[in-house]
Amino acid sequence: MTTPPFAPPTDAEIAVVSAQLGREARGVVGIAARCVCGNPTVVATLPRLPDGSPFPTFYYLTHPVAAAAMSTLEAEHAMPELAELLDDEEVAAAYLRAHQAFLADRSQYGDVPEIAGVSAGGMPTRVKCLHALAGHALAAGEGVNPIGDEALRRARWSPERCECVEPGAARGR
Ligand SMILES: [Zn+2]
Repeated sequence: MTTPPFAPPTDAEIAVVSAQLGREARGVVGIAARCVCGNPTVVATLPRLPDGSPFPTFYYLTHPVAAAAMSTLEAEHAMPELAELLDDEEVAAAYLRAHQAFLADRSQYGDVPEIAGVSAGGMPTRVKCLHALAGHALAAGEGVNPIGDEALRRARWSPERCECVEPGAARGR
């Protein structure tokens, strides 16, 4: 898990991320979380992409198996169940703090008026995208994003068990 400042991504890391996404990785400023093999699972992305478009999802879950696991949870209707956790005052307060932490991390890479105050995944009061919430939870570490943490607990994927196509490829040769 890593929050800013990040070490600049290496060419080997960017190559893995591009392979994971099936397209060229854009605007990546750092690797925010990794598989046990060292490959990226979450990248941090500029809030304004090189083509000028605003990009709110600072922590982006790139690992295809992780992303598929979140899609499965969403298809199994986990989101309304996780949203119910926000009925608990303490969970709701922690989720608000997660939102604020997300914005504070992103603002270190510039303020983009179009997405000011907008984080990701439905924060601070809704649950709209488990990919974004799990990405934040993986980057920040357990105990920061309660909904992302719970999504990861329920997921069939874990960063502790490598399911990469090319394990360790990000280390380069
Ligand atoms: Zn791996």
